[in-house]
Amino acid sequence: MPETLEQSAGRFDTVLIANRGEIAVRIQRACRELGLKTVAICSEADRQAPYGKTADSFLCIGPSTAAKSYLNQDAILLAARLAGAGAIHPGYGFLSENAAFADAVEKAGLVFIGPTASSIAIMGDKISAKRAMMAAGVPCVPGPDTALPDDPATIERIALEIGYPVIIKAAGGGGGRGMRVVPKADVLHEAIALTREEARKAFGSRSLYMEKFLEHPRHIEIQVICDDHGNAVWLGHRDCSMQRRHQKVVEEAPAPGIAPDIIQPVGLACAEACLQIGYRGVGTFEFLYEDGAFYFIEMNTRLQVEHPVTELTSGVDIVQAQIRAAQGHGLDLTQGDVTCEGHSFECRINAEDPETFLPSAGVVTHLALPAGPGIRVDTHIHAGYKVSPYYDSLIAKLIVHAPTRAEAMARMREALARTEVEGISTNISFLRALFEDGAFARGETDIHYLEQWLKLRRAT
Ligand code: ADP
Repeated sequence: MPETLEQSAGRFDTVLIANRGEIAVRIQRACRELGLKTVAICSEADRQAPYGKTADSFLCIGPSTAAKSYLNQDAILLAARLAGAGAIHPGYGFLSENAAFADAVEKAGLVFIGPTASSIAIMGDKISAKRAMMAAGVPCVPGPDTALPDDPATIERIALEIGYPVIIKAAGGGGGRGMRVVPKADVLHEAIALTREEARKAFGSRSLYMEKFLEHPRHIEIQVICDDHGNAVWLGHRDCSMQRRHQKVVEEAPAPGIAPDIIQPVGLACAEACLQIGYRGVGTFEFLYEDGAFYFIEMNTRLQVEHPVTELTSGVDIVQAQIRAAQGHGLDLTQGDVTCEGHSFECRINAEDPETFLPSAGVVTHLALPAGPGIRVDTHIHAGYKVSPYYDSLIAKLIVHAPTRAEAMARMREALARTEVEGISTNISFLRALFEDGAFARGETDIHYLEQWLKLRRAT
Protein backbone atom coordinates (compact mmCIF):
# COMPACT_ATOMS: atom_id res chain seq x y z
CA MET A 1 0.00 0.00 0.00
CA PRO A 2 1.39 3.46 -0.87
CA GLU A 3 1.86 5.62 2.17
CA THR A 4 0.44 9.03 2.89
CA LEU A 5 2.75 11.91 3.73
CA GLU A 6 1.99 11.58 7.47
CA GLN A 7 2.72 7.85 7.54
CA SER A 8 6.03 8.17 5.77
CA ALA A 9 7.38 10.76 8.23
CA GLY A 10 10.55 9.24 9.62
CA ARG A 11 14.13 10.30 10.09
CA PHE A 12 14.07 12.90 7.28
CA ASP A 13 11.72 14.80 4.99
CA THR A 14 14.17 16.04 2.33
CA VAL A 15 16.56 13.90 0.28
CA LEU A 16 19.60 15.15 -1.62
CA ILE A 17 20.22 12.95 -4.64
CA ALA A 18 24.00 12.78 -5.07
CA ASN A 19 23.92 11.53 -8.63
CA ARG A 20 22.92 12.40 -12.16
CA GLY A 21 21.25 10.96 -15.26
CA GLU A 22 18.50 8.37 -15.32
CA ILE A 23 19.03 7.27 -11.73
CA ALA A 24 18.59 10.85 -10.47
CA VAL A 25 15.16 10.85 -12.20
CA ARG A 26 14.30 7.42 -10.77
CA ILE A 27 15.19 8.35 -7.19
CA GLN A 28 13.40 11.69 -7.43
CA ARG A 29 10.23 9.89 -8.53
CA ALA A 30 10.41 7.50 -5.58
CA CYS A 31 10.93 10.39 -3.14
CA ARG A 32 7.97 12.36 -4.46
CA GLU A 33 5.72 9.31 -4.31
CA LEU A 34 6.70 8.94 -0.65
CA GLY A 35 5.88 12.62 -0.03
CA LEU A 36 9.53 13.61 0.44
CA LYS A 37 11.14 16.81 -0.85
CA THR A 38 14.13 16.50 -3.16
CA VAL A 39 17.38 18.33 -3.73
CA ALA A 40 19.03 17.80 -7.11
CA ILE A 41 22.69 18.61 -7.66
CA CYS A 42 24.65 19.04 -10.86
CA SER A 43 28.02 19.76 -12.31
CA GLU A 44 28.45 22.63 -14.77
CA ALA A 45 27.93 20.20 -17.68
CA ASP A 46 24.54 19.14 -16.28
CA ARG A 47 23.02 22.57 -15.58
CA GLN A 48 20.21 21.87 -18.06
CA ALA A 49 19.33 18.49 -16.55
CA PRO A 50 15.54 17.99 -16.59
CA TYR A 51 15.45 16.62 -13.04
CA GLY A 52 16.82 19.97 -11.83
CA LYS A 53 13.58 21.66 -12.87
CA THR A 54 11.35 19.17 -11.06
CA ALA A 55 13.35 19.05 -7.79
CA ASP A 56 12.47 21.28 -4.84
CA SER A 57 16.02 22.69 -4.91
CA PHE A 58 18.73 22.48 -7.54
CA LEU A 59 22.35 23.32 -6.80
CA CYS A 60 25.43 23.34 -9.01
CA ILE A 61 28.24 21.87 -6.93
CA GLY A 62 31.27 22.14 -9.20
CA PRO A 63 32.96 21.81 -12.58
CA SER A 64 32.16 19.14 -15.16
CA THR A 65 34.92 16.72 -14.14
CA ALA A 66 33.33 14.18 -11.78
CA ALA A 67 36.27 14.40 -9.36
CA LYS A 68 35.40 18.05 -8.77
CA SER A 69 31.62 17.64 -8.55
CA TYR A 70 29.87 14.26 -8.15
CA LEU A 71 32.86 12.88 -6.25
CA ASN A 72 33.46 16.02 -4.19
CA GLN A 73 32.27 14.96 -0.75
CA ASP A 74 32.65 18.38 0.90
CA ALA A 75 30.68 20.11 -1.87
CA ILE A 76 27.86 17.56 -1.57
CA LEU A 77 27.70 17.87 2.21
CA LEU A 78 27.66 21.67 1.91
CA ALA A 79 24.84 21.48 -0.63
CA ALA A 80 22.88 19.22 1.72
CA ARG A 81 23.30 21.72 4.54
CA LEU A 82 22.36 24.72 2.39
CA ALA A 83 19.25 22.99 1.02
CA GLY A 84 18.15 21.57 4.38
CA ALA A 85 18.39 17.92 3.32
CA GLY A 86 18.10 15.30 6.05
CA ALA A 87 19.36 12.41 3.94
CA ILE A 88 21.61 11.69 0.97
CA HIS A 89 20.84 9.07 -1.66
CA PRO A 90 24.05 8.16 -3.50
CA GLY A 91 22.46 6.24 -6.42
CA TYR A 92 24.97 3.91 -8.09
CA GLY A 93 28.58 4.58 -9.12
CA PHE A 94 30.21 7.81 -7.85
CA LEU A 95 30.18 7.76 -3.99
CA SER A 96 27.66 4.95 -3.55
CA GLU A 97 30.16 2.38 -2.27
CA ASN A 98 32.51 4.78 -0.53
CA ALA A 99 32.61 3.88 3.17
CA ALA A 100 34.34 7.16 4.12
CA PHE A 101 31.53 9.13 2.47
CA ALA A 102 28.81 7.10 4.22
CA ASP A 103 30.63 7.82 7.48
CA ALA A 104 31.00 11.55 6.71
CA VAL A 105 27.27 11.80 5.90
CA GLU A 106 26.30 10.21 9.22
CA LYS A 107 28.86 12.34 11.12
CA ALA A 108 27.27 15.44 9.56
CA GLY A 109 24.02 14.35 11.24
CA LEU A 110 22.40 13.19 7.98
CA VAL A 111 21.08 9.77 6.97
CA PHE A 112 23.02 7.88 4.30
CA ILE A 113 20.46 5.97 2.23
CA GLY A 114 22.42 2.75 2.14
CA PRO A 115 24.14 0.36 4.51
CA THR A 116 26.47 1.44 7.33
CA ALA A 117 30.04 2.47 6.52
CA SER A 118 31.29 -0.72 8.14
CA SER A 119 29.10 -2.97 5.92
CA ILE A 120 30.39 -1.10 2.86
CA ALA A 121 33.99 -1.51 4.05
CA ILE A 122 33.61 -5.27 4.70
CA MET A 123 32.09 -5.86 1.26
CA GLY A 124 34.52 -3.46 -0.44
CA ASP A 125 37.41 -5.73 0.43
CA LYS A 126 36.96 -8.94 -1.54
CA ILE A 127 38.79 -11.07 1.00
CA SER A 128 36.77 -9.87 4.00
CA ALA A 129 33.59 -10.18 1.91
CA LYS A 130 34.42 -13.78 1.04
CA ARG A 131 35.21 -14.55 4.68
CA ALA A 132 31.88 -13.07 5.84
CA MET A 133 29.99 -15.01 3.17
CA MET A 134 31.70 -18.32 3.93
CA ALA A 135 30.91 -17.81 7.62
CA ALA A 136 27.25 -17.18 6.73
CA GLY A 137 26.98 -20.32 4.61
CA VAL A 138 26.83 -18.56 1.22
CA PRO A 139 28.49 -20.80 -1.44
CA CYS A 140 31.82 -19.29 -2.62
CA VAL A 141 34.35 -20.01 -5.38
CA PRO A 142 36.84 -22.69 -4.17
CA GLY A 143 39.94 -21.05 -2.69
CA PRO A 144 41.06 -19.66 0.71
CA ASP A 145 39.38 -16.63 2.33
CA THR A 146 42.77 -15.20 3.27
CA ALA A 147 45.35 -13.05 1.47
CA LEU A 148 48.12 -14.85 -0.42
CA PRO A 149 51.40 -14.97 1.52
CA ASP A 150 54.71 -13.92 -0.05
CA ASP A 151 56.30 -17.35 0.21
CA PRO A 152 56.45 -18.86 -3.34
CA ALA A 153 56.22 -22.48 -2.15
CA THR A 154 53.02 -21.83 -0.16
CA ILE A 155 51.48 -20.02 -3.15
CA GLU A 156 52.27 -23.00 -5.39
CA ARG A 157 50.70 -25.37 -2.88
CA ILE A 158 47.48 -23.26 -2.72
CA ALA A 159 47.22 -23.25 -6.53
CA LEU A 160 47.68 -27.02 -6.68
CA GLU A 161 45.05 -27.55 -4.00
CA ILE A 162 42.54 -25.41 -5.92
CA GLY A 163 43.53 -26.91 -9.28
CA TYR A 164 44.41 -25.00 -12.47
CA PRO A 165 43.17 -22.78 -14.04
CA VAL A 166 43.12 -20.32 -11.13
CA ILE A 167 42.43 -16.60 -11.01
CA ILE A 168 44.47 -14.09 -8.99
CA LYS A 169 42.40 -11.18 -7.72
CA ALA A 170 43.27 -7.95 -5.91
CA ALA A 171 41.42 -7.68 -2.58
CA GLY A 172 40.72 -4.02 -3.34
CA GLY A 173 39.88 -4.56 -7.03
CA GLY A 174 36.75 -3.39 -8.82
CA GLY A 175 35.28 -2.64 -12.21
CA GLY A 176 36.80 -5.79 -13.70
CA ARG A 177 40.36 -4.58 -12.95
CA GLY A 178 43.04 -6.25 -10.83
CA MET A 179 42.45 -9.84 -11.99
CA ARG A 180 44.62 -12.32 -13.87
CA VAL A 181 43.86 -15.84 -15.03
CA VAL A 182 46.63 -18.41 -14.55
CA PRO A 183 46.19 -21.42 -16.86
CA LYS A 184 49.15 -23.44 -15.57
CA ALA A 185 51.91 -23.53 -12.97
CA ASP A 186 54.79 -22.16 -15.05
CA VAL A 187 53.25 -18.68 -15.29
CA LEU A 188 52.01 -18.50 -11.69
CA HIS A 189 54.76 -16.36 -10.14
CA GLU A 190 54.90 -13.94 -13.02
CA ALA A 191 51.10 -13.46 -12.78
CA ILE A 192 51.33 -12.86 -9.03
CA ALA A 193 54.09 -10.28 -9.44
CA LEU A 194 52.21 -8.39 -12.17
CA THR A 195 48.89 -8.38 -10.32
CA ARG A 196 50.53 -7.29 -7.04
CA GLU A 197 52.15 -4.35 -8.75
CA GLU A 198 48.90 -3.40 -10.49
CA ALA A 199 46.97 -3.70 -7.23
CA ARG A 200 49.47 -1.53 -5.36
CA LYS A 201 49.29 1.17 -8.00
CA ALA A 202 45.54 1.10 -8.70
CA PHE A 203 44.03 0.26 -5.32
CA GLY A 204 46.75 1.23 -2.83
CA SER A 205 47.01 -2.31 -1.43
CA ARG A 206 49.14 -5.22 -2.64
CA SER A 207 46.81 -7.75 -1.01
CA LEU A 208 45.82 -10.58 -3.38
CA TYR A 209 43.86 -13.82 -3.16
CA MET A 210 43.42 -16.84 -5.37
CA GLU A 211 40.43 -18.88 -6.44
CA LYS A 212 39.32 -21.41 -9.02
CA PHE A 213 38.81 -19.90 -12.48
CA LEU A 214 35.42 -21.02 -13.79
CA GLU A 215 35.50 -21.39 -17.56
CA HIS A 216 31.89 -21.11 -18.68
CA PRO A 217 29.83 -19.58 -15.92
CA ARG A 218 26.70 -17.48 -16.08
CA HIS A 219 26.39 -14.30 -14.01
CA ILE A 220 23.41 -14.63 -11.70
CA GLU A 221 22.59 -12.24 -8.89
CA ILE A 222 20.21 -12.06 -5.99
CA GLN A 223 18.50 -8.85 -4.84
CA VAL A 224 18.01 -8.36 -1.12
CA ILE A 225 16.30 -5.74 1.01
CA CYS A 226 16.72 -5.38 4.78
CA ASP A 227 15.44 -3.08 7.50
CA ASP A 228 16.89 -1.98 10.83
CA HIS A 229 14.63 -4.33 12.75
CA GLY A 230 16.18 -7.69 11.94
CA ASN A 231 14.23 -8.44 8.75
CA ALA A 232 15.80 -9.43 5.44
CA VAL A 233 14.16 -10.81 2.31
CA TRP A 234 15.44 -11.72 -1.14
CA LEU A 235 13.36 -10.49 -4.06
CA GLY A 236 14.38 -13.00 -6.69
CA HIS A 237 17.22 -13.43 -9.12
CA ARG A 238 18.54 -11.89 -12.33
CA ASP A 239 20.75 -13.13 -15.14
CA CYS A 240 23.31 -10.56 -16.25
CA SER A 241 25.54 -12.82 -18.36
CA MET A 242 25.27 -10.59 -21.44
CA GLN A 243 28.41 -8.55 -20.82
CA ARG A 244 30.98 -6.76 -22.91
CA ARG A 245 34.29 -6.05 -21.19
CA HIS A 246 32.68 -6.94 -17.84
CA GLN A 247 29.98 -4.31 -18.47
CA LYS A 248 26.40 -5.57 -18.40
CA VAL A 249 24.44 -4.87 -21.58
CA VAL A 250 21.15 -6.80 -21.16
CA GLU A 251 19.69 -8.11 -17.91
CA GLU A 252 16.69 -10.29 -17.20
CA ALA A 253 14.61 -11.64 -14.36
CA PRO A 254 14.21 -14.40 -13.47
CA ALA A 255 17.40 -16.11 -14.65
CA PRO A 256 16.14 -18.65 -17.20
CA GLY A 257 16.27 -22.39 -16.64
CA ILE A 258 17.09 -22.43 -12.93
CA ALA A 259 14.87 -24.68 -10.86
CA PRO A 260 13.36 -23.09 -7.74
CA ASP A 261 14.81 -25.78 -5.46
CA ILE A 262 18.34 -24.87 -6.65
CA ILE A 263 18.03 -21.10 -6.21
CA GLN A 264 15.87 -21.14 -3.06
CA PRO A 265 18.61 -22.16 -0.57
CA VAL A 266 21.02 -19.63 -2.11
CA GLY A 267 18.48 -16.79 -1.76
CA LEU A 268 17.76 -17.75 1.83
CA ALA A 269 21.51 -17.91 2.59
CA CYS A 270 21.89 -14.36 1.19
CA ALA A 271 19.07 -13.05 3.40
CA GLU A 272 20.61 -14.86 6.39
CA ALA A 273 24.05 -13.38 5.59
CA CYS A 274 22.49 -9.89 5.67
CA LEU A 275 21.19 -10.51 9.17
CA GLN A 276 24.59 -11.82 10.28
CA ILE A 277 26.47 -8.75 9.06
CA GLY A 278 23.78 -6.29 10.22
CA TYR A 279 23.06 -5.16 6.67
CA ARG A 280 20.58 -2.33 6.02
CA GLY A 281 18.79 -1.32 2.83
CA VAL A 282 19.14 -2.87 -0.61
CA GLY A 283 22.03 -4.95 -1.89
CA THR A 284 22.95 -7.50 -4.50
CA PHE A 285 24.84 -10.75 -4.14
CA GLU A 286 26.63 -11.57 -7.38
CA PHE A 287 27.31 -15.21 -8.24
CA LEU A 288 28.90 -17.20 -10.99
CA TYR A 289 26.74 -20.21 -11.85
CA GLU A 290 28.24 -23.26 -13.52
CA ASP A 291 27.07 -26.89 -13.78
CA GLY A 292 24.18 -26.34 -11.40
CA ALA A 293 26.25 -24.73 -8.62
CA PHE A 294 26.46 -21.12 -7.35
CA TYR A 295 29.70 -19.38 -6.41
CA PHE A 296 29.62 -15.96 -4.67
CA ILE A 297 31.94 -13.36 -6.23
CA GLU A 298 30.94 -10.07 -4.66
CA MET A 299 28.23 -8.01 -3.00
CA ASN A 300 27.17 -4.63 -4.33
CA THR A 301 26.11 -2.53 -1.35
CA ARG A 302 23.90 -0.16 -3.34
CA LEU A 303 21.03 0.16 -5.75
CA GLN A 304 21.92 -1.38 -9.11
CA VAL A 305 21.32 -0.21 -12.67
CA GLU A 306 19.31 -3.37 -13.37
CA HIS A 307 16.96 -3.13 -10.36
CA PRO A 308 13.88 -2.49 -12.62
CA VAL A 309 13.71 -6.09 -13.92
CA THR A 310 13.24 -7.26 -10.34
CA GLU A 311 10.71 -4.48 -9.67
CA LEU A 312 8.61 -5.70 -12.58
CA THR A 313 8.72 -9.39 -11.64
CA SER A 314 8.35 -8.92 -7.85
CA GLY A 315 5.99 -5.94 -7.89
CA VAL A 316 8.15 -4.28 -5.21
CA ASP A 317 9.29 -0.68 -5.70
CA ILE A 318 12.90 -1.26 -4.69
CA VAL A 319 13.85 2.41 -4.46
CA GLN A 320 10.89 3.26 -2.26
CA ALA A 321 11.63 0.21 -0.09
CA GLN A 322 15.25 1.36 0.22
CA ILE A 323 14.22 4.87 1.29
CA ARG A 324 11.64 3.52 3.74
CA ALA A 325 14.28 1.28 5.31
CA ALA A 326 16.57 4.31 5.71
CA GLN A 327 13.65 6.15 7.33
CA GLY A 328 13.74 3.47 10.01
CA HIS A 329 10.52 1.72 8.96
CA GLY A 330 10.22 -2.05 9.12
CA LEU A 331 9.85 -3.97 5.86
CA ASP A 332 6.22 -4.22 4.84
CA LEU A 333 6.65 -7.67 3.35
CA THR A 334 7.89 -11.05 4.49
CA GLN A 335 9.63 -13.74 2.43
CA GLY A 336 6.30 -15.51 2.01
CA ASP A 337 4.84 -12.42 0.28
CA VAL A 338 7.56 -12.35 -2.40
CA THR A 339 6.49 -13.77 -5.75
CA CYS A 340 7.93 -13.77 -9.24
CA GLU A 341 5.38 -13.00 -11.95
CA GLY A 342 6.24 -13.27 -15.63
CA HIS A 343 9.54 -12.29 -17.20
CA SER A 344 11.41 -9.01 -17.61
CA PHE A 345 14.30 -7.78 -19.78
CA GLU A 346 16.32 -4.56 -19.59
CA CYS A 347 18.43 -3.11 -22.39
CA ARG A 348 21.00 -0.47 -21.57
CA ILE A 349 20.85 2.15 -24.29
CA ASN A 350 24.23 3.83 -24.50
CA ALA A 351 25.44 6.84 -26.43
CA GLU A 352 28.13 4.94 -28.28
CA ASP A 353 29.03 3.72 -31.73
CA PRO A 354 27.29 0.34 -32.34
CA GLU A 355 30.41 -1.10 -34.03
CA THR A 356 33.37 0.41 -32.18
CA PHE A 357 31.58 1.15 -28.88
CA LEU A 358 33.36 4.50 -28.66
CA PRO A 359 31.31 7.05 -26.68
CA SER A 360 29.29 9.53 -28.72
CA ALA A 361 28.55 13.00 -27.33
CA GLY A 362 26.32 15.68 -28.85
CA VAL A 363 22.76 16.95 -29.05
CA VAL A 364 19.80 14.57 -29.36
CA THR A 365 17.94 16.04 -32.33
CA HIS A 366 15.03 13.58 -32.38
CA LEU A 367 13.72 11.13 -29.77
CA ALA A 368 10.87 8.64 -30.01
CA LEU A 369 10.32 6.29 -27.08
CA PRO A 370 8.10 3.20 -27.07
CA ALA A 371 5.04 2.96 -24.83
CA GLY A 372 2.29 0.45 -24.13
CA PRO A 373 1.51 -2.39 -21.73
CA GLY A 374 4.60 -3.91 -20.12
CA ILE A 375 6.99 -1.23 -21.40
CA ARG A 376 9.00 1.07 -19.13
CA VAL A 377 11.67 3.59 -20.07
CA ASP A 378 13.94 5.06 -17.40
CA THR A 379 15.73 8.05 -18.86
CA HIS A 380 16.73 11.67 -18.34
CA ILE A 381 17.07 12.60 -21.99
CA HIS A 382 14.69 14.47 -24.32
CA ALA A 383 14.90 15.98 -27.80
CA GLY A 384 17.39 18.84 -27.53
CA TYR A 385 19.29 17.17 -24.64
CA LYS A 386 23.05 17.49 -24.87
CA VAL A 387 24.87 14.25 -24.07
CA SER A 388 28.13 15.33 -22.45
CA PRO A 389 31.42 13.46 -22.86
CA TYR A 390 32.24 13.61 -19.15
CA TYR A 391 30.20 10.72 -17.78
CA ASP A 392 29.00 7.18 -18.34
CA SER A 393 27.36 6.72 -21.74
CA LEU A 394 24.06 5.26 -20.39
CA ILE A 395 21.26 7.46 -21.73
CA ALA A 396 18.20 5.25 -21.17
CA LYS A 397 17.06 1.87 -19.92
CA LEU A 398 14.38 0.11 -21.90
CA ILE A 399 12.58 -2.42 -19.72
CA VAL A 400 9.78 -4.79 -20.70
CA HIS A 401 7.60 -7.25 -18.81
CA ALA A 402 5.39 -10.04 -20.18
CA PRO A 403 3.92 -13.34 -18.94
CA THR A 404 6.65 -15.56 -20.47
CA ARG A 405 10.29 -15.15 -21.53
CA ALA A 406 9.39 -15.62 -25.21
CA GLU A 407 6.67 -12.95 -24.99
CA ALA A 408 9.03 -10.59 -23.15
CA MET A 409 11.61 -11.06 -25.94
CA ALA A 410 8.98 -10.29 -28.57
CA ARG A 411 7.92 -7.21 -26.60
CA MET A 412 11.54 -6.04 -26.41
CA ARG A 413 12.01 -6.53 -30.16
CA GLU A 414 8.95 -4.43 -30.83
CA ALA A 415 9.97 -1.78 -28.26
CA LEU A 416 13.47 -1.53 -29.76
CA ALA A 417 11.94 -1.16 -33.23
CA ARG A 418 9.90 1.81 -31.91
CA THR A 419 12.90 3.52 -30.27
CA GLU A 420 14.50 6.30 -32.27
CA VAL A 421 17.40 8.47 -31.13
CA GLU A 422 18.98 10.85 -33.63
CA GLY A 423 21.83 13.35 -33.46
CA ILE A 424 24.18 10.98 -31.59
CA SER A 425 25.20 7.36 -32.16
CA THR A 426 23.62 4.70 -29.96
CA ASN A 427 23.88 0.94 -29.52
CA ILE A 428 20.19 0.42 -30.49
CA SER A 429 20.97 -1.38 -33.77
CA PHE A 430 23.31 -3.72 -31.89
CA LEU A 431 20.59 -4.47 -29.30
CA ARG A 432 18.06 -5.15 -32.07
CA ALA A 433 20.42 -7.69 -33.65
CA LEU A 434 21.09 -9.34 -30.28
CA PHE A 435 17.38 -9.89 -29.70
CA GLU A 436 17.23 -11.82 -33.00
CA ASP A 437 19.90 -14.28 -31.83
CA GLY A 438 18.81 -17.91 -31.50
CA ALA A 439 21.12 -19.03 -28.68
CA PHE A 440 20.14 -15.98 -26.59
CA ALA A 441 16.46 -16.75 -27.24
CA ARG A 442 17.03 -20.31 -26.02
CA GLY A 443 18.84 -19.06 -22.89
CA GLU A 444 22.03 -20.86 -23.91
CA THR A 445 24.56 -18.17 -23.00
CA ASP A 446 27.37 -17.64 -20.53
CA ILE A 447 29.49 -14.61 -19.59
CA HIS A 448 31.66 -15.00 -22.72
CA TYR A 449 28.80 -15.34 -25.17
CA LEU A 450 28.37 -11.69 -26.12
CA GLU A 451 32.08 -11.13 -26.82
CA GLN A 452 32.13 -14.26 -29.03
CA TRP A 453 28.95 -13.17 -30.79
CA LEU A 454 30.52 -9.76 -31.53
CA LYS A 455 33.67 -11.40 -32.88
CA LEU A 456 31.64 -13.62 -35.20
CA ARG A 457 29.56 -10.66 -36.34
CA ARG A 458 32.67 -8.67 -37.21
CA ALA A 459 34.11 -11.61 -39.12
CA THR A 460 31.04 -12.05 -41.34
P1 ADP B 1 34.77 -6.53 -10.06
O1 ADP B 1 34.53 -6.08 -8.67
O2 ADP B 1 36.02 -5.98 -10.65
O3 ADP B 1 33.56 -6.41 -10.94
P2 ADP B 1 34.23 -9.41 -9.77
O4 ADP B 1 34.78 -10.23 -8.68
O5 ADP B 1 32.78 -9.06 -9.70
O6 ADP B 1 35.11 -8.09 -9.94
O7 ADP B 1 34.52 -10.12 -11.15
C1 ADP B 1 34.28 -9.49 -12.38
C2 ADP B 1 34.13 -10.50 -13.48
O8 ADP B 1 35.32 -11.29 -13.60
C3 ADP B 1 33.03 -11.51 -13.24
O9 ADP B 1 31.77 -11.02 -13.66
C4 ADP B 1 33.50 -12.67 -14.09
O10 ADP B 1 33.25 -12.37 -15.45
C5 ADP B 1 35.01 -12.64 -13.91
N1 ADP B 1 35.41 -13.51 -12.78
C6 ADP B 1 35.60 -13.14 -11.48
N2 ADP B 1 35.95 -14.21 -10.73
C7 ADP B 1 35.97 -15.28 -11.56
C8 ADP B 1 36.23 -16.69 -11.38
N3 ADP B 1 36.55 -17.21 -10.20
N4 ADP B 1 36.12 -17.50 -12.48
C9 ADP B 1 35.79 -16.98 -13.69
N5 ADP B 1 35.53 -15.69 -13.92
C10 ADP B 1 35.62 -14.83 -12.88
